[in-house]
Amino acid sequence: MAKAKTKANISATTFDGAEAWRSLDPEAQARIGAAALEKMVAKAIFEVEFSATAAGRAAVVALEMADNLLHVAVLGKDGLDDRLWTDVVGRRVTYRVPSVLGIFCHSCGYSDADDCEDTSGGWASDTLCAACAQG
Ligand SMILES: [Zn+2]
Repeated sequence: MAKAKTKANISATTFDGAEAWRSLDPEAQARIGAAALEKMVAKAIFEVEFSATAAGRAAVVALEMADNLLHVAVLGKDGLDDRLWTDVVGRRVTYRVPSVLGIFCHSCGYSDADDCEDTSGGWASDTLCAACAQG
């Protein structure tokens, strides 16, 4: 992957899923939890069976439907408040990248899980890769 050419749109704050979960009411937690379980079971069946069997074939469609269900449950009107994952200053929006990524470059988006060769030179700090630090 090439180094990001656009102006960085990464918030200085990461998205903390545990904190966001605690902010949800019990009904939203129930919808999201059920959708997440449906999705992961469909994924588990698909990963074992692919689409070569009846269960695998059904799981492919169930996975897509559960993903849509989870999307609506998390990001729909009764889901997460957008302010938990975006920061808006004037007309500029930055995104709180999920904390599950660990250390990543807030300039180009690189992380250790990224196999980008341009940025394999390590880290200048916890939020800046060596390639971006060199300009
Ligand atoms: Zn970088």
